[in-house]
Amino acid sequence: MLKVAVIGAGVNGVSSAIKIQEHYQNEKKIKVQVTIISDEFSPNTTGDGSAGLWGPFLLGGTDQKKVYKWSKDVHQFLEKIWLSDDAGEAGVCLVPCVRLSTEPNCAVGDFWRDIVYGAVELTSEQLEVYNKGRDSKFTAGLSFVTYTSEPIKLLPYLMKRFVRRGGVVVQQKITDLEGFVRDSPYDVIVNCTGLGSRQLLNDGQMYSVRGQVTRVKANWIYTVVLDESDDGNYIIPNTESVVLGGTHQEKDYNENICPVDKRFITDGCRRLLPGLTHAQHLFDWVGLRPGRLELRLESERRGSKLLIHNYGHGGSGVTLAWGCADDVLHLLLADKINSKL
Ligand SMILES: Cc1cc2nc3c(=O)[nH]c(=O)nc-3n(C[C@H](O)[C@H](O)[C@H](O)COP(=O)(O)OP(=O)(O)OC[C@H]3O[C@@H](n4cnc5c(N)ncnc54)[C@H](O)[C@@H]3O)c2cc1C
Repeated sequence: MLKVAVIGAGVNGVSSAIKIQEHYQNEKKIKVQVTIISDEFSPNTTGDGSAGLWGPFLLGGTDQKKVYKWSKDVHQFLEKIWLSDDAGEAGVCLVPCVRLSTEPNCAVGDFWRDIVYGAVELTSEQLEVYNKGRDSKFTAGLSFVTYTSEPIKLLPYLMKRFVRRGGVVVQQKITDLEGFVRDSPYDVIVNCTGLGSRQLLNDGQMYSVRGQVTRVKANWIYTVVLDESDDGNYIIPNTESVVLGGTHQEKDYNENICPVDKRFITDGCRRLLPGLTHAQHLFDWVGLRPGRLELRLESERRGSKLLIHNYGHGGSGVTLAWGCADDVLHLLLADKINSKL
């Protein structure tokens, strides 16, 4: 029996746990017991307040080729859910999207264009629609169709899938990872603690990227609108509300709502869509994205144990989770631990 512990119940932890569990169960050669150990679960993880829009964002110097592969895997994973009975329960929606840029000669979303559906550049006439009444004009834009998978629905759906197949869930905060790897009964430990790795591993490459958003009721909005500028705003419809954003403040650990950020969000989004002036305010939310100089996905041996790290997904945890989980599985399958079982 292969005993696996996945630390962390965010979108990366749960995806990694399911990938490993389903692979070994389908293959039927080696028995597996996967346990998710975490101090917080949905609705209290970083992804729970996010809109879960597909799109690589805030990934430091992470290799673009890897980001392409991981995010493509996720697009295909979401397509499968979207075309299944589970789409509603999992909160997966197919949405039209417009990304706008104020930078001259900017190619919006260059490296991932062929992953999304029907990407086309906006004409100057189409850009005019968004430029009415604006001082800083948009000079480029990309229109395409992609998915949102809001973690507040996706996480309970994935967790149910994990538990239904015999997955174990334990609430516990790990304070000494070295000791846990050494003394616990697990053969494989997968570290998906997000920003928690900063303390747990004393990882100096980790930093928070603070994000504040506002949720409103605006059932008439069906399209995602994103201003790519550094101080740009975004509007992302989910199933029951619309997310207005947002901030991305590096090395800011303030988890409280900031009134100045709230004004920036509501004023900026109203400039993009004036109809938002009358939208019902639901709540404001702050999350600390797990920023890192580079996403960490690698394994290391600790005696007879295998420790796999999968953290530092910045502003793209939802966009990359299923793809990164596939690499976690391959690191495990490539290890000699398999031949011993
Ligand atoms: C405002 C905002 C908007 C966003 N929008 C999007 C978006 O549209 N699309 C997108 O792809 N991404 C988005 N993101 C980014 C995304 O939410 C994160 O990248 C993602 O949630 C990270 O997931 P994770 O599983 O790696 O970490 P987390 O969700 O932070 O999970 C870490 C888990 O580890 C546990 N943990 C930590 N330390 C310990 C410990 N010592 N012991 C035990 N357990 C521990 C925690 O309790 C938690 O369960 C957004 C983020 C924010 C803040």
